[in-house]
Order: sequence, then structure tokens, then C-alpha cells
Amino acid sequence: MITVHEAYQAVIEKALPAAIESVHFMKSRGRVLRESIISDRDLPPFDRVMMDGIAIRYAAFQEGIRAFKIQEVQAAGAPRSSLKAKDGCIEIMTGAVLPEHADSVIRYEDVIIDHGIANIQIEAIKPSQNVHLQGTDRKRGTEVLIPGTIIGAAEIGVFASLGVDQVKVSRNPTCTIISTGDELVEVNEIPLAHQIRRSNVFMLQSQMESFGIIAEQIHLLDNQDHIKFQVEKLLKKQDLLIISGGVSKGKYDYLPTVLTDLGVQKIFHKVKQRPGKPFWFGKHPSGVLVFALPGNPVSSLVCLVKYVHQYLYNHLKAKSTSPKAILTSQIIFKPDLDYFLPVKVDYSGAQIEAIPQPGQGSGDFANLVNADGFLHLPRGQEQFNKGEIYPLHLYRNPVL
Ligand code: AMP
Ligand code: MG
Repeated sequence: MITVHEAYQAVIEKALPAAIESVHFMKSRGRVLRESIISDRDLPPFDRVMMDGIAIRYAAFQEGIRAFKIQEVQAAGAPRSSLKAKDGCIEIMTGAVLPEHADSVIRYEDVIIDHGIANIQIEAIKPSQNVHLQGTDRKRGTEVLIPGTIIGAAEIGVFASLGVDQVKVSRNPTCTIISTGDELVEVNEIPLAHQIRRSNVFMLQSQMESFGIIAEQIHLLDNQDHIKFQVEKLLKKQDLLIISGGVSKGKYDYLPTVLTDLGVQKIFHKVKQRPGKPFWFGKHPSGVLVFALPGNPVSSLVCLVKYVHQYLYNHLKAKSTSPKAILTSQIIFKPDLDYFLPVKVDYSGAQIEAIPQPGQGSGDFANLVNADGFLHLPRGQEQFNKGEIYPLHLYRNPVL
């Protein structure tokens, strides 16, 4: 049996860079950017007025002038006007270009306008006040977004701003998630006493959607020929197969045999971890990767976030962070295995806190709603103390 670290390394090694495709920028959320986005103009592109008010010459104010004759009004979207007289001003609106020869904007709140004269009511102003100077955010030609960025709302705003209509992103792998087991029935069925609804695969499928991967689903009975027939077809069609169940030591756990028979090269089977020990990982000569996860719901989710997610970050060339969290109470775990402890995460303090929610083990899917992710407690020690810091694998988005 290999260690979690060895299993992780073996998975990462198989992550070749994904192909690149272009998508409309509004379809790019959650995708991984594969190009530099360069500013096509200075940001802001002109000296942008930030307040509704009047534009004047700072020097005139310094010389003691407080009453400025209104020359004209310049709206946002109007071409740049030019301030003529020294004691003149231009009424100016937020978003407008600062007029030529003007350099300061005084907001309406600090001015009284009477018979075409703007009388300034404040004692001190600064040069360039209320003006967002051209190019102070970014100069034209500078890199605003780097490859590897996972695209979210802020990036969508940058694309729109810079006129990037089509954006180059990693092509997501095509994927089928396979549930196995004679005990499983459909969600809309009433299970008999000895049956349960197949639930895992929906959890895994929805988790894959957080990468923008829309996976298909299929259910297979614990019948060797049936499994072989279906998996063979899928190996020809998809980039990635994620299988749930049928990989342990049971009489009807046919997957390791079937996968080997179909030419999928086993890279490892069984990892020194709990939950998720029976995890099987392999690669078909055609390049298809097979993540065969144990069927227990908690095990399958642990393996998904620890291995499939990390594979995807590498394959899609995403810049990922590796969050860590501080354990809030002592945990004793004696087996010689890495332990993925379900934890509720508290982000409200200076450090991310992981509050243990051990639940009843790998079958306790209901307990997953009490947690946000798994804290990775390494093997080689039995006692994990309050205040110690460990890697965190989240399945719940912190912003939700
Ligand atoms: P297996 O890995 O096939 O031995 O399954 C381990 C446990 O997980 C068994 O109790 C199964 O009934 C359960 N299980 C397997 N697949 C699913 C699934 N798709 N949804 C819910 N439970 C499952
Ligand atoms: Mg099974």
C-alpha cells in the first residue's frame, strides 16, 4: 500500500497540460485562463473626474480666487472641453474627462452656485483632487491578468473593460461519473428495505461543476460483463472516468479486474489513508485516466478533493492555493494512516480555524453537511493538538 504523498505524486505526474480553446468571455466563469490579458489602453484611459462638481485651475485657487465664472457644463461621455479664463470653471460630471487647463475638481457639496458664479466654500484643496489620473491603475501594454487565473466576477469585468470578447481557457476534460452497486436505486424511487438511493455520484457531479466540468453519469450493476461492456465504451469516449464503488475486497467488487482486462494500467490500488483506502487509479494507453473511488460517500468525496481536484488544478494549469487551518480541539487517531478529518471552517478570526466534525465514519454522508472540508492529519503520530496547523481540502466554497 502506498502513502498519500506517493499517491498524490503519482496522480500529479499524469497531469499533462490541457488543450486550449476560446470561449465567449461570459461563458468563462470557473474556467482557467491560458493567456495574458494585456491592457489595450491606459487605465483609466483619461483623467477621469470622480465627483460631480466644478473643474478649476488649482493655481487660481492658490492665488486666492474663490468665485469662478461657469464657462459651460461637461457631461460624462462628452468630448474634452478646454477651460479658458483663469477665474473660470466648468461644471463637470463624474466619469467625464478632466477639461484641458483644469486640474482640480471641487464637489457640488463644497460650492454655492449663484447667477452663473460658483463660490467655493472650503478653505483648502489639493492639486488633482477628485481626479483619477490617466494610467494610474495600469499603463497601456501591461499585463492585467496572468495565465492560470481561475476566472471569476472580477476577471469577467476586466475582460469586458478591455474589450476581450473571446478568451483562451483550458479545455475541460470530458468525464463520466459511474456509480456501481446492486443495492442502489434512482433518486425518484422508493428504496426497498435492503436498498439505498444512489447519492454519491450526484455529490461528485456537482463538485466537478465547481471546475466548470459538466460530467455525465451512468449506473452499473455489480455484473462483471455488464461493467466491462459499458466501461469499454466509455474508455473510447471520455478523457476521464470517475467510478464510485466496486473497488474494495468484496466478492462483487469487479472493477479492478475489469479495468485491468480492458488494458487500463493500474498505477496504484489502496492508499494509506482513512477514509478512502481502497482508491484505485490507472491510465489507459489512449490517455484516459480512471479514478476509481471507494463507494462510501465520505471516502469518495475525500478522494475527489484530494486527488481529482489536485489533478485538475495541474492539468488545467490553474494557479491554486493550498489553504491550511488551525485545529480547534485535540484529535486522537491511532491507525497508521493519514486521516482526513471532516471539519467546519471558521473564517471569522485572524487565522482559519478547523472545528472537528468527525461524524460516524465513511458512510456518514449526512455529517458532510456539518462540515466544509477535510483537515489532512498525517500518519506517524496519534495525537493532534489544539492549535496545530494542517492542510485543508475544501468542498464548500468559502464565499457561500
Ligand atoms: P463499495 O465501495 O461498492 O463497497 O461501497 C461501499 C459502500 O458505499 C456501500 O455501503 C455502498 O452501498 C455505498 N455506496 C456505493 N456507491 C454508492 C452511491 N453511488 N451512493 C451512495 N452510496 C453508495
Ligand atoms: Mg459496491
